[in-house]
Amino acid sequence: MSAIDTLPPLRDVITTHDLSARKSLGQNFLLDLNLTSKIARQAGDLSGSDILEIGPGPGGLTRGLLAEGARRVLAIEKDPRCLPALAEISAAYPGQLEVINGDALDIDPLAHLTPPIRVAANLPYNVGTELLVRWLTPPTWPPFWQSLTLMFQREVAERIVAQPGSKAYGRLALLAQWRTEARIVMSLPPEAFSPPPKVHSAVVHLTALEKPRFDADAKTLSRVVAAAFNQRRKMLRAALKGQAPDIEDRLIAAGIKPTERAEQVSLEQFCALARALKA
Ligand code: SAM
Repeated sequence: MSAIDTLPPLRDVITTHDLSARKSLGQNFLLDLNLTSKIARQAGDLSGSDILEIGPGPGGLTRGLLAEGARRVLAIEKDPRCLPALAEISAAYPGQLEVINGDALDIDPLAHLTPPIRVAANLPYNVGTELLVRWLTPPTWPPFWQSLTLMFQREVAERIVAQPGSKAYGRLALLAQWRTEARIVMSLPPEAFSPPPKVHSAVVHLTALEKPRFDADAKTLSRVVAAAFNQRRKMLRAALKGQAPDIEDRLIAAGIKPTERAEQVSLEQFCALARALKA
């Protein structure tokens, strides 16, 4: 019998430990272990990696990660009610699961992890987006993680992988695609969760590139992209007026028509513009 078979079903865990879902913590649990194993498999080579899991809750995805062979899992969970359920999983996988009780936004997990490191999480959506932006904008590149496998509401997942010309295209797509390969690898209906959320969800897998796809200064790129999409309906010569007195010339130097709108401009062109603004 493998370790996972010694653990009680997740529905029983929730009853035993009285883990009624709290809206304030964005608790929508995954209780189907086939599904959590499937998500874990999307995270890549687990046997050779330490996994950082944020928001394990009662431990469905944690079990999936361990059952699929993760070398070690560090799980950060804010809700102390989940700790006894997670301790049962630690006991079934001695030395392989460490749990920290706290807010993932305040904790630096690096002291607890050995590279290579992969991140996996089914998080409340607001926390997930904030962490994603932090993970994509570290002080140095390549980052501490090799890949991120994250559940988002479907609409946010589409914004991460969006291409120019679509409504979903914007800051998040450019930030993610500049330094990672980002794909939607699974779609999940509300009924996959307990309780079901109002919206559909999707798992996005992001692999860190060795170096950014195109050369650009990170701060300049971020500033110009923010300015362009803050006024996405305006032509770029107007939206970017504050960036340089000769913005039309700089746009032309970057191969962008000054009358174009942000939605039409590719990542490569935004990087060229960031370089032209630094020149
Ligand atoms: N991973 C579990 C699953 O798939 O069933 C639980 C998912 S539930 C959507 C989100 C989990 O994140 C909850 O257990 C919640 O308590 C936890 N959480 C919420 N905010 C958090 C934060 N800031 N830091 C760490 N955990 C958090």
